[in-house]
Amino acid sequence: ATASEDKDLVIIGGGVAGYVAAIKAGQEGMKVTCIEKRGTLGGTCLNVGCIPSKSLLNNSHLYHQILHDTKNRGIEVGDVKLNLANFMKAKDTAVTGLTKGVEFLLKKNGVEYLKGEGSFVSENEIKVALNDGGETTVRGKNILIATGSEATPFPGLEIDEKRVVTSTGALSLEKIPESMVVIGGGIIGLEMASVWSRLGTKVTVVEFLGQIGGPGMDNEIAKSAQKLLKKQGIEFKLNTKVVSGDASGEKIKLDVDSAKGGKPESLDAEVVLVAIGRRPYTGNLGLETIGMELDERGRVIIDSEYRTKIPHIRCVGDATFGPMLAHKAEEEAVAVVEYIKKGYGHVNYGCIPSVMYTYPEVAWVGQTEQDLKAQNIPYRVGTFPFSANSRAKTNLDTEGLVKMIADPETDRLLGVHIIGPNAGEMIAEGTLALEYGASTEDIARTCHAHPTLAEAFKEAAMATHAKAIHF
Ligand code: FAD
Ligand code: NAD
Repeated sequence: ATASEDKDLVIIGGGVAGYVAAIKAGQEGMKVTCIEKRGTLGGTCLNVGCIPSKSLLNNSHLYHQILHDTKNRGIEVGDVKLNLANFMKAKDTAVTGLTKGVEFLLKKNGVEYLKGEGSFVSENEIKVALNDGGETTVRGKNILIATGSEATPFPGLEIDEKRVVTSTGALSLEKIPESMVVIGGGIIGLEMASVWSRLGTKVTVVEFLGQIGGPGMDNEIAKSAQKLLKKQGIEFKLNTKVVSGDASGEKIKLDVDSAKGGKPESLDAEVVLVAIGRRPYTGNLGLETIGMELDERGRVIIDSEYRTKIPHIRCVGDATFGPMLAHKAEEEAVAVVEYIKKGYGHVNYGCIPSVMYTYPEVAWVGQTEQDLKAQNIPYRVGTFPFSANSRAKTNLDTEGLVKMIADPETDRLLGVHIIGPNAGEMIAEGTLALEYGASTEDIARTCHAHPTLAEAFKEAAMATHAKAIHF
């Protein structure tokens, strides 16, 4: 390419961050190239993350419910069997449909899509090693690093994605293992533990901290989630650290230490899932060629407008700061294009929801009680249990609660924490309320349809500044 053919924006990575930025920039009339090496668009989320995991979670829940939760509903079922190959096929169909859909959207918005690995040759020039062989070069007035993240490996245990797996292997096991140890009780660990435990695997989750759920989950909700997951058959070892592993035998052996000084123990399992977090991925990108800075955790250092120290090179998504969530990447992708094109953009980092898609779901937005306590900020709490909600009772699905946290003086909503049926959808209402600066009285005075689970949300708001009606 020659300088006259410079693109307005060259994006490295076609994950949620990259493809959303590409579409948005196309819509803004910019000339865009998006480089992705995977062979399909959508990144971790669509290919080996959010989407396939939710397919397995949804269908394993259905299977588990048919096995264990029909009789009391007056439904008698005969011989129920799981066909693992078809169960996986349903997941693959969802993934393919969505990744192809993204490819169509790039085309529709005039984005050039290059299948290959991109690396910096200079501050404006990206070399692309094409998947089909050969090489090309693209030049960009602006460049966006959207290369995402990868699973953090566990030292001494080599990942083969068959016996020692990351989430990627855990999404595609070819047979149901008898036993599985999950290292790390964060969101990946608990979602995957749920899937395989529902299909019949004996699952043990080993978590270093004293609570499950990873960073950000409210203590009270995390305890309640652990109790409900334990009831489903998942075993937990908290305050326990996996110190070493040995995969040379028929079973994988793990040595664990109590973080509180108890006696060391050893566990064995047919499959071990390493789910101890993810780290930014910037391998083979040639960052050293342009003198780009990473922080001590490998994140690309950016300013509040996503600029690196080379101002026309920006970075969004998992490769930089903030929670590693698809919807956070998507918000940033839109904002970064707006910064480039118009000079302004907006992401409210205090208002990014989190959802754990276990059963029941756990969802939250805003501050936790532990955050507020640590900052010495006064707050008021109101809760409403699903056991007092008419729809939850009708559905025979009454585990969990809605918890709201508000400013005791102004009544402004500070946080919402839900464990219960449909929590992942219900949190959208909490997110909107928080984004608009609602008080809990505003929520309580908003008419909610009856009978719905959302009435529990309204009643939790009532309980925060006054009293709930039904509890
Ligand atoms: P990625 O999706 O990782 O995309 C980066 C892309 O860049 C990749 O496709 C990679 O191949 C490509 N790339 C990297 N380097 C180069 C290069 N040099 N040249 C060309 N291409 C390159 N988040 C949620 O919000 N909800 C969920 O339910 C959820 N579930 C998850 C489940 C699992 C099992 C996992 C692992 C993650 C999950 N996440 C979820 C997190 C979510 O997947 C990420 O936050 C999201 O994918 C980040 O988007 P990204 O575009 O920044 O990075
Ligand atoms: P995480 O950081 O959420 O949890 C990792 C857990 O492993 C932590 O609780 C940590 O204390 C524990 N741990 C670390 N080392 C350990 C050791 N040696 N022994 C025992 N425990 C150890 O990370 P994750 O669950 O791997 O998820 C990675 C990212 O993917 C997260 O940012 C998450 O938000 C994202 N994700 C999101 C969703 C969702 O939104 N539903 C689903 C999956 C993944």
